[in-house]
Amino acid sequence: MNDETRMNCEQVADRLTDLMEGDLPEQEQEAALSHLATCDRCEAVLADTQSASDLAREHGRVELNDADRERMLGVLLHQVDHNR
Ligand SMILES: [Zn+2]
Repeated sequence: MNDETRMNCEQVADRLTDLMEGDLPEQEQEAALSHLATCDRCEAVLADTQSASDLAREHGRVELNDADRERMLGVLLHQVDHNR
């Protein structure tokens, strides 16, 4: 992980939706996950985003299927827990 792939809180926040939908390039996904693993503030934002995503999905705005979404959240939460 070099400086080019490091993200700040703002950059991660901008990418949370794409991250959860699996739309990020692999390099950006890894950078975002590594930041989330070490940043309590962004972890809280992620938790809020998960709730928002549930609402959006109920209203048909998120097309990600349940299996993919659960897998993505599992990866995210595992990484956060693993580095605590
Ligand atoms: Zn952060």
